[in-house]
Amino acid sequence: MEPRGHVWLDFSFVVSSGYREKVLASLAPKPKVPSQLAEETDLRIVHVSRALRELSDRGLVECLTPDVKARGRLYGLTPDGAALLSELNGSRRYVTPTVREATKEGFVPKIRGSSVVRFLEYLRKTRGRSVVADAIASWSVDADKLTEDTWLSVEACAALLEIVETNFGDGSYGSIRKLFSEAMSTFPTVREQLTKAIPLTALAERAPIVYAKEWNYGRLEVTTERRKIVFRHYDWMPTPAMCAMFHGIYEGGLIYRGVKGKVTKTQCVRTGSDHCEYRVEW
Ligand SMILES: [Zn+2]
Repeated sequence: MEPRGHVWLDFSFVVSSGYREKVLASLAPKPKVPSQLAEETDLRIVHVSRALRELSDRGLVECLTPDVKARGRLYGLTPDGAALLSELNGSRRYVTPTVREATKEGFVPKIRGSSVVRFLEYLRKTRGRSVVADAIASWSVDADKLTEDTWLSVEACAALLEIVETNFGDGSYGSIRKLFSEAMSTFPTVREQLTKAIPLTALAERAPIVYAKEWNYGRLEVTTERRKIVFRHYDWMPTPAMCAMFHGIYEGGLIYRGVKGKVTKTQCVRTGSDHCEYRVEW
């Protein structure tokens, strides 16, 4: 969906109803079902349902699981909804939409093939073509048919990372982290930003652009201070390998820019937080 440029009309539509505003804001971290929204916003379920209907009609919110019965349906922000929320929140928070490739058959979280293709190329270059071919022979995806614009399920990507760790790592996912720190600068959408002659903090603020192009789900928020960047990932349950991958990607950014610093994992969905947080300091 193209942004419609109606942000100010949408703005008044949302702020004129406290219900709509609360429901929209509550969807910012991740997709939710109506009962979760009711609990979080302290609104009655009928009000949540009405707000969701009005926001959906306006194209600000979209149902991700239309085949499921009403109360079990999962709702997320559309690109317009995310743009509007960024306006409401002020300019220091960058909100990415939840809905980019929702299909009518149901929502499958996916990653674009572009970075996976480059990752495999890097692996072949450093570990050997036949070694990699043998290692990934059991993968459910035919790596030879993978293109830039193939959308892979997150599940298939997670499986690939497990295969790589099993074959080239020690089970700590340290090898995944290192591989991604080295390979990230070859990912086309990352590279496009990384090579811009702008400060590191300005670069970081563009990370949600990359994220929005490469993932059809989840959200990335970035806040910056002097010599410090915080990346917050609101994803559905990531695997340990995927957390290691993001950790490595952010370390790779520092290395590529020749900046001495460190990336610390400070929150994780797998240990009970509602997001994974990576803190970059230099
Ligand atoms: Zn995590």
